Amino acid sequence: MGEKRNSFEIAQQQLGVAAQVMGLDPTVHELLRWPMREYHVTLPVRMDDGSTQIFHGFRVQHNDALGPSKGGIRFHPDETIDTIRALASWMTWKCAVLGLPLGGGKGGVICNPKKLSAGELERLSRAYVRAVARFIGEDVDVPAPDVYTTPQIMGWMMDEYATMSGRSVPGMITGKPLPLGGSAGRHDSTARGGIYCIREAARHLGLELNGRSMAIQGCGNAGQYAAILGGELLGLKTVAISDSQGCVYNADGLDVAALGQHKRATGSVVGFAGGEDVPAADLLTLDVDVLMPAAIENQITADNAGQVKARIVAELANGPTTPEADEILYNRGVYVIPDFLCNAGGVTVSYFEQVQNAYRFYWSEEEVYRLLDERMTASFAAVAAAADKYQVPNRVAAYTVAVGRVAEACKLRGWV
Ligand code: GLU
Repeated sequence: MGEKRNSFEIAQQQLGVAAQVMGLDPTVHELLRWPMREYHVTLPVRMDDGSTQIFHGFRVQHNDALGPSKGGIRFHPDETIDTIRALASWMTWKCAVLGLPLGGGKGGVICNPKKLSAGELERLSRAYVRAVARFIGEDVDVPAPDVYTTPQIMGWMMDEYATMSGRSVPGMITGKPLPLGGSAGRHDSTARGGIYCIREAARHLGLELNGRSMAIQGCGNAGQYAAILGGELLGLKTVAISDSQGCVYNADGLDVAALGQHKRATGSVVGFAGGEDVPAADLLTLDVDVLMPAAIENQITADNAGQVKARIVAELANGPTTPEADEILYNRGVYVIPDFLCNAGGVTVSYFEQVQNAYRFYWSEEEVYRLLDERMTASFAAVAAAADKYQVPNRVAAYTVAVGRVAEACKLRGWV
C-alpha cells in the first residue's frame, strides 16, 4: 500500500497544474495556494459522566474574493488542519465553478461522534459555535453539514449563535432542519447534483445509462440518496454500497430503500439480507459502469487506479482521487467527474437556502430542483468546454474555470 497523501499538498499540486495550463500570474498563484485565515479552537465539553473532555477544532477561510466563505463542518476522529485547509480550498473552487457569490471555508472537530451521546454531541456543537462565533456570520463565513454532521447539529449551532447575538440569524448556517429555515431539497441536494452530472457525462459520451450498474463507496447522506436518485432519475442499478464497516453486493441490484432501513437499524450495511457481504476494498475495482466514491479523501490511489473498471467515476466525496491515480485513470480513458463539480449540489442548495433566509420567503422543492439542474448543467458544460479547449482532464479543466473567476475577483479588488 502506498503512503497516505497529505490532502493540502494535493490541493496545492492540483492548483499548480492548472496554473501552468492557464498561464496564471505567479503572484495570483501564490496567493491562491494558501488560506487567507485559519482559526484553531480548544473546546472543553462536559461529558455525561460528569468529567470534562477537551476537544480541538478548526475553521479555515481559504479565499473570500467572490463573497463570504462557505463550507461544511466535519466531526471526524482523523481530522487534521491540513485536511481542513484542503477542503477549504476545494470549497473556493466549488463555489467559483458553480458561479456562486461565495468563497471557500471549512471547519472540523477532532472527535468520534459515533461514541458521543446525543447530549454530548449537542454540547460539543454548541461549544464549537461559541468558539468560532466571532469569526463566522452570514456575511463573513457560513458553515453547513459535512462528514458526520447533520441538520440537527446545524439547528443547535444556529440556536447557540442566535442566543449569543440576541436575534434570529438563520442565514449564518445552512443545511438546517426545514422548520428552522432549511431549504426544501437540501437533504438530497449533494446526491442530486451528482446524478445530474452523471446524466450530462453520459450525454457527452453518448452512453445509455438505463439498466447500467453503479457501485457507491460510502453510505452517508450523499451515498444513500445517490443510490435512490440514480435509480429514480437515470435507471441506474446500484449493485454495491460500502461503509466504514464493510460492503454489500448484489449483481441484480440492491433494494436501496430496504438497505437504508437496515443501515438505520444496525448502524451498518453489513449483514443486509438482500445481498452478500464482500470486502470493502473490492468495491472500487468492481466491474460496473459508474463508480461513485462518496466517503472521504484519498481512496482511489496509484495502488488501485489501474484496476478501476468503471467508465465513469463520479466523485461525490471531496478529494477521493490522488494526483497519481488521476493520471492513471486519464490514460486509461476513464471519464472522471471531479469532486468540486460533481458534489457541488449541496453548496448550491445551501446558497439557495441563504437567499430564502434573507427574504424570509421559501421556495417549493420543484423550484429548487429546477434551479439546481440549471446550475449543474451549465457548470458541467463550462468544464467540458475547458477540457476541450486545453485538451486536459476534467479536473484540470474545472480548476481553470474556477481559478479564472477567483483570480479575476482578486484583481478587481486590487489584491494583486
Ligand atoms: N459540505 C458540503 C460540501 O463539501 C456542503 C457545503 C455547504 O453547503 O456549504 O460541499
